Amino acid sequence: MTQQITVAIVGGGITGLCAGFYAAQRFGRDEVLVLEASDRPGGTVATERSEGFVLDCGPNGFLDREPRMLEWIEALGLSDDLVRANTAAARRFILKNERLMEVKPPPAFFFSPLLSLRGRLRLLKEPFAPPPPEEGTPETVHEFAARRIGPEAAEMLVGPMVSGVFGGDARILSLEHCFPRMRAMEREHGSLTKAMLARRRNASGKKGSPIGPGGVLTTLKGGIGTLPERAAERLGDSLRTGCEVTRVEAAPSRGFRIHTAEGDAVDSQYLVVAAPAHAAADFLQGLDAATASALGQTPYAALTVVCTAYPREDVAHPLDGFGFLVPRNQGERILGCIWTSTLFPEQAPEDWVLLRTMIGGYDNPESAEWNDQELLDIIREDLHSLLAIEGDPALYRIYRYPWAIPQYTVEHGKVLQAAERAETAFPGLFLAGNAYRGVGMNDCVVSARNAIERLEAMHGVDKERA
Ligand SMILES: Cc1cc2nc3c(=O)[nH]c(=O)nc-3n(C[C@H](O)[C@H](O)[C@H](O)COP(=O)(O)OP(=O)(O)OC[C@H]3O[C@@H](n4cnc5c(N)ncnc54)[C@H](O)[C@@H]3O)c2cc1C
Repeated sequence: MTQQITVAIVGGGITGLCAGFYAAQRFGRDEVLVLEASDRPGGTVATERSEGFVLDCGPNGFLDREPRMLEWIEALGLSDDLVRANTAAARRFILKNERLMEVKPPPAFFFSPLLSLRGRLRLLKEPFAPPPPEEGTPETVHEFAARRIGPEAAEMLVGPMVSGVFGGDARILSLEHCFPRMRAMEREHGSLTKAMLARRRNASGKKGSPIGPGGVLTTLKGGIGTLPERAAERLGDSLRTGCEVTRVEAAPSRGFRIHTAEGDAVDSQYLVVAAPAHAAADFLQGLDAATASALGQTPYAALTVVCTAYPREDVAHPLDGFGFLVPRNQGERILGCIWTSTLFPEQAPEDWVLLRTMIGGYDNPESAEWNDQELLDIIREDLHSLLAIEGDPALYRIYRYPWAIPQYTVEHGKVLQAAERAETAFPGLFLAGNAYRGVGMNDCVVSARNAIERLEAMHGVDKERA
């Protein structure tokens, strides 16, 4: 028998759970169904708790600057569980010539050996950098950074930041799609230096975050996995796990017919697709082959997270910061390491050190194939020497993501156009999630909430017409 509902959501990652939550608030839980292929909701957002350690498997937090994320957290009754990063983790390091060098704020930065004297002098010319290419001409993140702050700073500062966020290569990622605010700042102020000075003036009185730009890295008690766990609890029977969607087609009267691997089907008036682009490309093939083909071309970076724990006395490094990132010209295997027990001390027992090392990235697709032993060898060879760690980790966990993060290349505009075309051609279809306009958890929540707001507006019009 085909079940009839108002809103179906495919994918129970953070996007699908957020969309499901707000759809259920509006239409009632009986009218909403979130269909999730795996046995666990949350997608890449998950936490394992073991032997007093809180081990975040994918993301470890979000910046507390997005009101719509904080609103959702409040609606889930989790505001009292927010945990902000320890201010002791304010310092950030970059690996250069096998040494960790602190990224200091200006003016101290200009005396730091992280960049050569020439590189530092080039930074000072930022306000006089050549103008952006004409509107419509694509520019990669690396091209933008090299044009504004010079090739050395682009390589040593921007490249690692990009691989920290996207697991990606600044040389192929599009500035417009990955960092739209940077482009806007340049257009508005003519220079990033001027834009930052203006921002500082406007924020006078408010103390900036010591931890990161525009917000403090924030998690929840019990780790970031608490968020999907609570959202799933609130959804109750409106969330169906272990339910893979295999095909979507137009329903006989109106709306959508969604087929699952179990052989049953659901008819819904509205459909929110919150699955990764490569998965959506498979099940949307029958509905709209052109959109499916555009989505299927989105490249993804593979990432592996290796969490390791040590008794404090085995680690000689003070771990007095957030962690470090590795520019691609300084070694290919580790992208960076977060000093979790400094950042969120409650995630490790006292007198223990917990580290999160990211391995792989877009340039390193074979990393997805490395077995546990190979990964632990990398940790021993690349990490232990840097942080002066004695012996093997007392505990380790490895989390692999062969399709970790979509890469917004200079071709990404075609994906966005295809998505918009599909939403226009099939009224009631909404595409949301990290495949489109931002990969951070905040972006995903914003995309989920936008989808539900547009859906509600369409429902209002549909009701008036009926
Ligand atoms: C290692 C790692 C670290 C990260 N760190 C951070 C961080 O610190 N901060 C931050 O803000 N962001 C971080 N991100 C990014 C962020 O976690 C993701 O972009 C975000 O969680 C994606 O959410 P989503 O719901 O859009 O997609 P996903 O989490 O991918 O969820 C999609 C869901 O769809 C399901 N699905 C797929 N196919 C089907 C199908 N056919 N039928 C039904 N269900 C299907 C999947 O099983 C999955 O659960 C990180 C990502 C990774 C991989």
